[in-house]
Amino acid sequence: MRRDLVDMAVDYEAAAAFTFDGARALDRYRREGRETEAGERAFKLVRALVPVAKHVTARMAVETASYACEVLGGNGYVREFVTPRLLRDAQVLPIWEGTSNVLSLDLLRALDREDAHEALLPAIRANLDAAEHPSLDEPTATIEDAFAGLQESLAHLAGADGEYAQLQAKELANYVFDVYTAALLVREAQDRIDNADDARKALVAKRFVDTRLREPDARGVTAGERFLIERFDAVVRYAPVAPTTLVESASADD
Ligand SMILES: Cc1cc2nc3c(=O)[nH]c(=O)nc-3n(C[C@H](O)[C@H](O)[C@H](O)COP(=O)(O)OP(=O)(O)OC[C@H]3O[C@@H](n4cnc5c(N)ncnc54)[C@H](O)[C@@H]3O)c2cc1C
Repeated sequence: MRRDLVDMAVDYEAAAAFTFDGARALDRYRREGRETEAGERAFKLVRALVPVAKHVTARMAVETASYACEVLGGNGYVREFVTPRLLRDAQVLPIWEGTSNVLSLDLLRALDREDAHEALLPAIRANLDAAEHPSLDEPTATIEDAFAGLQESLAHLAGADGEYAQLQAKELANYVFDVYTAALLVREAQDRIDNADDARKALVAKRFVDTRLREPDARGVTAGERFLIERFDAVVRYAPVAPTTLVESASADD
């Protein structure tokens, strides 16, 4: 259960980071229009981020609401509890205002017609470059590999026929979410270390990267990793974490 709660907290923070970044870009585009260079960049970013945000967060809401029923056991299923209503309410999210497939096709359209990658890729690069603290070295190296893969995928699909591009559209939307969010989270972690001397967000970034961008041997079962137990209070109860302790534990692991 501790594992599940950590991952739900990490999912929630990842979704919030991505969505608010999209909202920031939308705000900038609305203020500046497409006349300025920054406004044009914001427009392209919005075109890529909005369909991905809606697709990923809607599916996440269904999965999280469904699991919330299970967390409360039999009670969570019966109508007297709030959870069945949350699940039913969540189920509409991936359907109205664009289903997952239709939103994934919209991402392809944004890349093809509006060159959205011209804003998307530099934004990921800038966030990765901002992550300097040693506690972020390991997740950032993994994100760099995934970022290279994402760029390769975009170049490949740009030259592919339409049917093949559509076949890969949802995979691409999920890939964009994972890489973009991972880079955002290490950037947020760096900001938090700089401004509050707190590395809790670095743990959130690490867990996101471990679950989304890594494929550990034997699915991690043999790794002996107890992160989810040791860091439960930090991630789920927002206990602050001294940045030096993460660097010390990383060098002890080496
Ligand atoms: C509670 C509720 C309120 C609503 N309110 C409004 C409203 O106020 N105004 C309004 O205009 N509409 C409204 N709608 C309609 C809603 O926007 C549509 O139901 C939604 O856009 C999905 O379209 P559809 O029902 O035609 O399903 P379809 O588009 O037929 O989708 C069915 C399935 O086919 C898939 N699919 C569709 N096209 C493709 C494709 N090209 N490639 C691959 N897969 C595809 C979808 O992903 C989905 O899995 C509402 C719907 C609900 C449930």
